[in-house]
Amino acid sequence: MFGRAPKKSDNTKYYEILGVPKSASQDDLKKAYRKAAIKNHPDKGGDPEKFKELAQAYEVLSDPEKREIYDQYGEDALKEGMGGGGAHVDPFDIFSSFFGPSFGGGGGSSRGRRQRRGEDVVHPLKVSLEDLYNGTSKKLSLSRNVICSKCKGKGSKSGASMRCPGCQGSGMKVTIRQLGPSMIQQMQQPCNECKGTGESINEKDRCPGCKGEKVVQEKKVLEVHVEKGMQHNQKITFPGEADEAPDTVTGDIVFVLQQKDHSKFKRKGEDLFYEHTLSLTEALCGFQFVLTHLDNRQLLIKLNPGEVVKPDQFKAINDEGMPIYQRPFMKGKLYIHFTVEFPDSLAPDQCKALEAVLPPRSSSKLTDMEIDECEETTMLDVNNIEEEMRRKQAHAAQEAYEEDDEMPGGAQRVQCAQQ
Ligand SMILES: [Zn+2]
Ligand SMILES: [Zn+2]
Repeated sequence: MFGRAPKKSDNTKYYEILGVPKSASQDDLKKAYRKAAIKNHPDKGGDPEKFKELAQAYEVLSDPEKREIYDQYGEDALKEGMGGGGAHVDPFDIFSSFFGPSFGGGGGSSRGRRQRRGEDVVHPLKVSLEDLYNGTSKKLSLSRNVICSKCKGKGSKSGASMRCPGCQGSGMKVTIRQLGPSMIQQMQQPCNECKGTGESINEKDRCPGCKGEKVVQEKKVLEVHVEKGMQHNQKITFPGEADEAPDTVTGDIVFVLQQKDHSKFKRKGEDLFYEHTLSLTEALCGFQFVLTHLDNRQLLIKLNPGEVVKPDQFKAINDEGMPIYQRPFMKGKLYIHFTVEFPDSLAPDQCKALEAVLPPRSSSKLTDMEIDECEETTMLDVNNIEEEMRRKQAHAAQEAYEEDDEMPGGAQRVQCAQQ
């Protein structure tokens, strides 16, 4: 009833577009996108819409942060722009970042070479509703790569490096691909021997600190401040705290808050909802009870004298909802939803006593004549009306299927939707 229900249906589309399973590795995604993008490139007579779809799907799934959000909440969550990660994609831009600007030609991407940016590291961070109400800070120990201090990221003792023999120092390898009977394309890929750096280090000259890797592992404790009023899915970013690498702008560490369900309270934006069950006597004649709030304050909840609470009624208490993010002295409302429990049966003398004080019944207005003209009926108990209706619809669909074998597909679909 409250909160965002994850939509199961719309977080598979991107995988289907690329034709990979949900468990696909980054490598699988790359291969699938590469193959499909070449086939569907508009310059090669491919469908521009399909080409755009491929780029969009790849753009999201190749980014671990976006992929995680997509897997959990689907496409819409990305469009809502968590931290500005919108869904606008220039397919040619992605294509050329993949194959180099020399491939394809069309598209008009005129962007220059940007400095390489390291990947952001995303961690979900579980928090309780109490944490979001009161604010808290959590210490988390993480290990990360940092530039080796012994060699300052050179990887060698002398600071010297040789040209990589695999790529003659260019960092790129050129491959020729035959695309069709009369079509040859030249493709550039980062050299696998030097990981695109263009240099290699003599074994004897390797830095003892990092064994020539240029980076070493470091443990680091981050203190994450969860502020009052923060939301489920809100991000807390530590800029430049992800893995370091030579000649790379270090990415961010991003924590995404994941609120655990609360046994008593539900949150909706700045408001809180609380369920309370009353006996019929309490609903009619008044009550008071103690509500323990998320900061352990005890609130006394009581009805005005003479007031009656009806089943399913809501009451609101101002300024007892969630604190508002960055304005923690302002708070939303606390809604209390009342369920009224009726007695299962009453004895005749109890009925008499109630009739004496409650408003008269409307059925007593019927005359004996009127009653004589009616037919007698019997009322049966219905335990679960939704369940009973569902069973009936399924039964009707089954009959439609059996009667109408002209359109088995259609009837089957109806049936599936109801299961
Ligand atoms: Zn190389
Ligand atoms: Zn080193």
